[in-house]
Amino acid sequence: MPQFSALIQALRASSTIAFNAKALELKRAGVDVIAMTAGEPDFQPPAHVLAAAHEAIDRGMTKYTASEGTLELRQAIVNKHARENGLAFTPDQVVVSTGGKQSLYNAFMSILDPGDEVIVPAPYWVSYPAQIQLAGGVTVPVACRAEDGFVPDPEAIAAAITPRTRAIVVNSPSNPTGAVVPEGVLKAIADLAEQHDLWLVSDELYEHLVYEGTFTPVAQWYPERTVLVHGASKGYALTGWRIGWACAPVALAKAMNRLQGQVTSNANAVAQYATQVALESVEATAAFQAMTRAAYRERRDLLVAGLNDLGLPTPMPHGAFYAMADLRTIDPDETVAATVLLEQARVAVVPGTDFLAPGFARLSYACSTGQVAEAVQRIAAVVGR
Ligand code: GLU
Repeated sequence: MPQFSALIQALRASSTIAFNAKALELKRAGVDVIAMTAGEPDFQPPAHVLAAAHEAIDRGMTKYTASEGTLELRQAIVNKHARENGLAFTPDQVVVSTGGKQSLYNAFMSILDPGDEVIVPAPYWVSYPAQIQLAGGVTVPVACRAEDGFVPDPEAIAAAITPRTRAIVVNSPSNPTGAVVPEGVLKAIADLAEQHDLWLVSDELYEHLVYEGTFTPVAQWYPERTVLVHGASKGYALTGWRIGWACAPVALAKAMNRLQGQVTSNANAVAQYATQVALESVEATAAFQAMTRAAYRERRDLLVAGLNDLGLPTPMPHGAFYAMADLRTIDPDETVAATVLLEQARVAVVPGTDFLAPGFARLSYACSTGQVAEAVQRIAAVVGR
């Protein structure tokens, strides 16, 4: 067989996907495993959104749309950000993509030249460094401390800036730590981007999952250098429908769409319409989000208290649906510790390795409350409490 490209040979597989696939494979094989791997809501999407998808099919909305997404959906996105975040975008600043992942990829491909550095607070989501690498860039991690609840330190970010820095990534609430970054910290980071003429890539997929504190829209300060990435997966429980979007200055939106037009064209037309209805049905969607948020919060409280009681120090996450547990009392190597949890407790987690969180593992509490309680009991049996 002829050889593969150097680019693809250097690319690691997504460990969030890999560990989730492993958990599902075990389940299929009849093993009673609790999957705390994927960050995927266990709720079905709200009924009005499902009905909209049926309606889209019935109305024959089965053709290509504009590569950047329908004008109606982009207008609904503009309205959402105006209504909820006080941001003033226009539809030509919005590019709808096949998931937040593609929006991020479009952004990195459009702003990075080979060797450009991107500062990413760590622990970080596994796909940032992979996508930055695909775009020829270099990830410069800046460690956040568990003692600080994994909130980034603007001074540490400032110290990491070099003449090669092109962008800073912020992600609040954070996957994988659940940290909700205070407004003052985000503003200090945004000011650094302004002072050093950098892009700010703000991943806001978890906006609607904040339990304490408030969500901060980063694009309020320097919209001319900010790429806001959002999507329908988390707040609207539409993971499999693959709808993400980016809001950016017009020239960058055009560039990202040029790329997308050569790679995938538009995101799924039926899912675009359903997302439009989700965004337009303001009250029904807000009620759904309030209901899911309350459920996640209950699970979080159960899980985080349980893990800390078991001697597995876990900072309280104030958003998203992830907890980062320090597993070093089980084993100093997080992959070994995660394997112990899988094999002995039959609880599947994602080891911190690819999040740059050595000694830790990410537990997603987007599974049912009963499963969270059962997982804590099973882990208790393994750690001997
Ligand atoms: N964002 C989710 C997670 O981190 C889905 C998996 C993925 O796309 O990486 O688990």
